[in-house]
Amino acid sequence: MTSQTSSDCLCKIVAGDIPSDRVAESERSIAFRDISPAAPIHVLVVPKRHEPTVGALAVAAGDDLADVFRLAAEVAEQEGVADAHRMIVNTGSGAGQTVFHAHVHLLAGASFTEGRMV
Ligand code: AMP
Repeated sequence: MTSQTSSDCLCKIVAGDIPSDRVAESERSIAFRDISPAAPIHVLVVPKRHEPTVGALAVAAGDDLADVFRLAAEVAEQEGVADAHRMIVNTGSGAGQTVFHAHVHLLAGASFTEGRMV
């Protein structure tokens, strides 16, 4: 695991080098709409610190991890889905992780009875 910044990851969105549809920001995290939404509401919540996975972030910077979930809850409130949403974390390509900068998917507005959403 590395904490080095990749030139081709969500760090570019954090830095503002790649545009994003930003919905919220804190000192430690940002939240923006997923470019390929899997549900009517699909927001990625991302630590500004680069770590490849949520687990690595937990080890390296627990306060940053806590802030990601705090901001996700704030976005859920903002979007009117505080009582009906999922927060999903994929870890490793075998589990579907495609972007190796830690992130949490906030999903809402679709049926949760069909199982997997992302
Ligand atoms: P994961 O499969 O858990 O790694 O999720 C990565 C997510 O990042 C996918 O849902 C992508 O659609 C999303 N994504 C990738 N690039 C961007 C981007 N530039 N802006 C917004 N979402 C993105």
